[in-house]
Amino acid sequence: MHKSLQRWNSCPQLLTLPPHDFHVKRIHVYDFDNTLYLSPQPNRQFYTRPLLGTLYGGDLLNGRDWWSEPLFLEKSFDQMLAIEDPSAREQEFWNKEIVDLAKSSFEDKETVSILLTGRKEELFGPLFEKTLKKCNVTFFNAVCLKKPGVGNNTMEYKTTVLKELIDEYEGTLEEITVYDDRLSQVQKFQAFFGQLGGTFQRMAVPVVPRYKFLDNEEECRMILELAGPDGIRWTPRQSGYFLNTQSHKNLLSFTFNFFQKKYNWNLLPEYPMYIPCCHLGETPPVDQIARIWSNDQANADIQECLQKFQSQDPFCEITFNVVELGHCGRTPGKINVFFKAEPCDKSRYLWSQFKNFIVAGRRYDSTDDNSLLQRVVEGKQPSMQWIKLRRPIKIKTFFGHYARLDKGAKL
Ligand SMILES: [Mg+2]
Repeated sequence: MHKSLQRWNSCPQLLTLPPHDFHVKRIHVYDFDNTLYLSPQPNRQFYTRPLLGTLYGGDLLNGRDWWSEPLFLEKSFDQMLAIEDPSAREQEFWNKEIVDLAKSSFEDKETVSILLTGRKEELFGPLFEKTLKKCNVTFFNAVCLKKPGVGNNTMEYKTTVLKELIDEYEGTLEEITVYDDRLSQVQKFQAFFGQLGGTFQRMAVPVVPRYKFLDNEEECRMILELAGPDGIRWTPRQSGYFLNTQSHKNLLSFTFNFFQKKYNWNLLPEYPMYIPCCHLGETPPVDQIARIWSNDQANADIQECLQKFQSQDPFCEITFNVVELGHCGRTPGKINVFFKAEPCDKSRYLWSQFKNFIVAGRRYDSTDDNSLLQRVVEGKQPSMQWIKLRRPIKIKTFFGHYARLDKGAKL
């Protein structure tokens, strides 16, 4: 009885066979990452697009990628277990709606419910067993991780398991339901179900993915450590006035419509846009940092201001009005967009190495021409076409600095 549960379960201490005197009428299958659990994803703000691609599928991290390197999930589990109150823990790290569904599947004696994940058993098995036990996630008949050599990918592995379960319970089976956050997987499950015989009901239910980032500094530190000094490097440091996400969004929507939707979002500057106050890779002079931070108060503590600047404290807020839009290098499928801004409060102390406050953005694909940015902020790009806006657009910024991690020289 229940041979397939025994065969595919990866965590001996979490195997719970259904009672003998019941027929299995339903099979409920729950994906783990971002369906049940708010697993961390790489925080896109920290990486160039080529690096992000590698994090998701390459071998930069000591031969592994984000999903096969256990350290990230382990870190997240540690944080989750550190919360003592079970309901607060669930609130912060689990998708309660799906957890509740899984609990009721488990309570129903005619339902076999499993946690089924593409995480590799040899790398994650003991971590899952230990963690799920500790936080009382013991409401599955089996916890199945991808066994070595079964299928070339997550989908092939998962359908192999599903086939065996269906074969075993076919005589009494009335329903099979799979919950997954990835639409591509949901569609593949649907295609798989379509090919199956039998009269039982079958459903692949899409779940809105949920995740929880790791601590920013921690994440960068781990990536740097795993990739090693040759694998990874920082892009040149940008210093200046950084638009907050709402202002960034507003400005981009305006630009998108301004060009009558001719230019794909990907071609427009991506988060974060900013007003450079000094050259790429440089840092503003310390006394200027203190004067900007304190709005030119004579008794400002320079060290304190500097420390706040270094630690990316977003407290130093400055509002600008965007008054002109400029562009150059316009060909089909390519454009460089900049903006001219003016401080809203003329009496606010500001500093810039450049004559104008120019809003610029870098691109994720790292194809930025750094010398173009320099020419534009210095007013030395003759092909720039500036257009005065009919109504200024207010943007909120904070004074700070920023860099992304990028693939290193060796790649
Ligand atoms: Mg998932």
